[in-house]
Amino acid sequence: MVDEVKQRDAIDTGTLRPQELEAVYAISRLVARSIDTDHVLDEIIHLARPVFIFDNMVLYVKREEEGLEPRFARAIGRGRTLEAELAWGEYTANDVLSSRKTILRVEDLSQTDPKRTGLRYYLGLPIAQSGEVMGALVFVRFGGPPYTSDQIHLAEFIADHVQQVLEHRQLVKRVADLEAKRRLDDLQDDFVATISHELLTPLGFIKGYATTLLREDTTWDEDSRKEFLTIIDEEADRLHELLDSLMDSSRLQAGTLRINTQPLRLETLLRDIALRAKSRSENLDIRLMVKTPGLQIQGDPARLAQVFENLLSNAAKYAPNSPITILLESEEGRARIRVADQGPGISAEHVGNLFKRFYRVPEKSSVVRGTGLGLYICRQIIEAHQGKISVTSTVGEGTTFLIELPCEHVQSDNSTSREVPA
Ligand code: ADP
Repeated sequence: MVDEVKQRDAIDTGTLRPQELEAVYAISRLVARSIDTDHVLDEIIHLARPVFIFDNMVLYVKREEEGLEPRFARAIGRGRTLEAELAWGEYTANDVLSSRKTILRVEDLSQTDPKRTGLRYYLGLPIAQSGEVMGALVFVRFGGPPYTSDQIHLAEFIADHVQQVLEHRQLVKRVADLEAKRRLDDLQDDFVATISHELLTPLGFIKGYATTLLREDTTWDEDSRKEFLTIIDEEADRLHELLDSLMDSSRLQAGTLRINTQPLRLETLLRDIALRAKSRSENLDIRLMVKTPGLQIQGDPARLAQVFENLLSNAAKYAPNSPITILLESEEGRARIRVADQGPGISAEHVGNLFKRFYRVPEKSSVVRGTGLGLYICRQIIEAHQGKISVTSTVGEGTTFLIELPCEHVQSDNSTSREVPA
């Protein structure tokens, strides 16, 4: 037996008893701060049950293709049985969908099922969005009594709130999608702008000086020729480095960057790196302090060198003329390496972003060349070694990068602390 109930209008709370009103307000408050749909629906059941008796509640939503599918179902009646668990009111939900109205339906299966579950009272309510029925909320009551008009009215309140939960959920999802798309668009725009600028600058130098050298109306003395060729040579190296960073970054994104580890003496690795950095730029004042000698780790020497070279070149770029200290020690079985400068430092608002892909401190980005990829790559490499990299900085005092790596082995060495000539 199926009954249609007149379409529901705007909710009028005037007809509700105080206890029912309280439950409806509690549901409203819950919906207003809802995040997890299933949790909210469970809470709605919990709040509604004392004022509205039902055994099962099912929320059906329209499928993308056709028909309905249960999105949420709970059997809560006392003495739950298998029969009760199977009575999910699909017919009622379909009637709601086709009629777009509240539906009352009674199924009398007492011939085959003489228990309470043989007599089933269904109440189906439309869940609409922007005037379109998107689903149905079905209550099932076993053995009666039939739903009264007051109870139907109360169930409509509940259905209205369930509808709001779904709307809220969709809104949150739509906002999240839009936000993700906007972020991706911004990121792609930033990427193209940064990369184009960074590639064009060295290319511009190379082209400019090569054209200058090729001019037939001018002859250059040997010193000038050498200077121009040196610039071309350096800028070509820079282009190469940039493309390497980009390749590393995209390999990291794709998860295909290879790390080939071997036993490494940290002291030796750091000394070599410091010597190489000094040979490239004589003015660099690098001090290597070894507090715990004999530290050995499993690492990829080329990749770790890339990390420390990046930190040293950053210190040289952003803290010019400052001495750079590399301090090596072990604490709690981990090797700790601090690379510290006494440069201008980085303000707190930027510190948390430094390891993000393409992040550059805005005030510095127009003065010092870079891509914002270096520290991102450093972090990925250190994490691939099961290590951690972090930074602390004080404006006006300097910046310290701390790298922690699992330490394989400490070779016994009698000296406790020493400064190693780098
Ligand atoms: P890039 O140097 O190419 O910009 P990085 O990822 O290596 O990219 O560094 C990100 C940003 O962190 C830099 O743009 C710079 O603003 C800041 N930074 C890095 N090292 C230092 C440092 N030692 N002192 C001050 N700022 C630094």
